[in-house]
Amino acid sequence: MARIVILGAGISGHTAALHLRRMLGKEHEVVVVTPNSKWNWIPSNIWVGVGKMTTEQVTFALAPIYRRKGIVLHQALGVAIHPEGNSFHKRAFVEISYTDPTRSGEKGEIEYDYLINATGPKLNFAATPGLGPDGHTVSVCTPSHAIEAASHLKDVIAKLKAGVAQRLVIGVGHGTCTCEGAAFEYAFNVEHELRLAGVRELAEVVYLTNEFELGDFGVGGMTFTQSGFETTSKLWTESLFRERGVHAILQSHVEKIEEGVIHYEQLDGIKRSLTFDFAMLLPPFRGVDMKAFNAAGEDISAEMFAPSGFMKVDANYTPKAFADWRAEDWPSTYQTPLYSNIFGVGIAFAPPHQISEPRKSVTGTLIAPSPPRTGMPSGVMGKTAALTISERILKGESTPAHHASMANMGAACIASAGSGMRTGTAAAMTMYPVVPDYQKYPGSGRSAKDTFGEIGLAAHWIKYLLHVMFIYKAKAKPLWFLIPE
Ligand SMILES: Cc1cc2nc3c(=O)[nH]c(=O)nc-3n(C[C@H](O)[C@H](O)[C@H](O)COP(=O)(O)OP(=O)(O)OC[C@H]3O[C@@H](n4cnc5c(N)ncnc54)[C@H](O)[C@@H]3O)c2cc1C
Repeated sequence: MARIVILGAGISGHTAALHLRRMLGKEHEVVVVTPNSKWNWIPSNIWVGVGKMTTEQVTFALAPIYRRKGIVLHQALGVAIHPEGNSFHKRAFVEISYTDPTRSGEKGEIEYDYLINATGPKLNFAATPGLGPDGHTVSVCTPSHAIEAASHLKDVIAKLKAGVAQRLVIGVGHGTCTCEGAAFEYAFNVEHELRLAGVRELAEVVYLTNEFELGDFGVGGMTFTQSGFETTSKLWTESLFRERGVHAILQSHVEKIEEGVIHYEQLDGIKRSLTFDFAMLLPPFRGVDMKAFNAAGEDISAEMFAPSGFMKVDANYTPKAFADWRAEDWPSTYQTPLYSNIFGVGIAFAPPHQISEPRKSVTGTLIAPSPPRTGMPSGVMGKTAALTISERILKGESTPAHHASMANMGAACIASAGSGMRTGTAAAMTMYPVVPDYQKYPGSGRSAKDTFGEIGLAAHWIKYLLHVMFIYKAKAKPLWFLIPE
């Protein structure tokens, strides 16, 4: 009998848990440790944030699904990994701290044969003074954040209706943020709602970003074919900004936020400030607070985790100039170099470098979008780790690992630009590979044939369909596993 412990039931961890349960017989145990009782389809939080969806539409309780599937659930935080055991435990184990209201404050220790770290990001609002729901801005990263954002937006719309001009700033709250695609989506969904409410004229919508140019999205932008013509995501995105009258402030690092004022520095080294009536700025991400200890109880966190707190896996982390990075430096098995039975997947793994070229301002401030690890790659990584583990359990420990590098993987991204079955719009983009491979695809680093974009109402329908399909899949309804990651 083997026990697999999965830390985190988000997109990657939940995918891994369901596949492991499907691949392994009941004599093996699949255990999930996760702090929230509910699963969340995070992409649709954007629609919660404009009041178009409720929390109930984007979340569901995990316990009944896990009970039906035979997955053991601990509503808890993973706090420390002991990959070599200790004087009490012969086997490797994790320390957990319960968040389950019925066991709140209780600690636990769970031994494992295999461990998947799928803990996603820590929302690091603390990196920018005044950022986030405890400061002066709102967020759409969690359903409760999004509900609060929708309520503030409603107030802003009421003021606009009363004839009071409002400035809405949407973007990222630090020079090293990722997830610019989500900020872009929220900006255009808000803009769409303002138009629907008939108050667009009095509202100024500003997109504040660390991207060097529009359409970068943290992946260095894309060159693609649209309706038979080659274009770039820069041109494509700029025309949308022009068409909708959204003003963009690029190349920015937000330094601090005071009530109604954002202070930021740009690549030219000049520090500027911008007043606002409403601001949704995403936080930078870092790895969750987790430690690791060896058999002697010595802290080995610095060997297991990168300084960003993300878990080191089979990537090449040797520091290099940006131009010297190669596609093969990206991880593909997500197995940690120190312990072959530990995997780091989804946002939890440490990327070896940025995908967009990192830049510093003339005063030395780093303004560099971090590489996005979006839903599709995160799900694929979860499944890849599950395949490796299940085969090693069933066929022997020396069975080779499965591979799925982001430098050899495509991703589809549909960025909503306003919801509504008749009035909605979305920008649908696919890219292959996610991490450009300049040796294989000289020029843009990506396959022109497999990288394309379309914008329109049909893309909104697809975005909505994905919402329905992925929630169906996550609920493990009949034939769920036929829906690709
Ligand atoms: C607003 C927003 C919109 C987005 N829209 C899109 C989109 O349209 N398309 C797309 O592809 N991607 C989108 N993304 C990105 C997508 O949500 C992520 O790629 C994806 O969720 C990453 O999966 P993950 O499993 O790594 O992390 P998550 O899905 O964040 O899961 C992490 C899990 O770990 C749990 N956890 C945290 N700490 C611990 C701990 N100590 N111990 C145990 N468990 C822990 C968390 O509670 C959570 O359940 C969006 C992101 C945001 C913020």
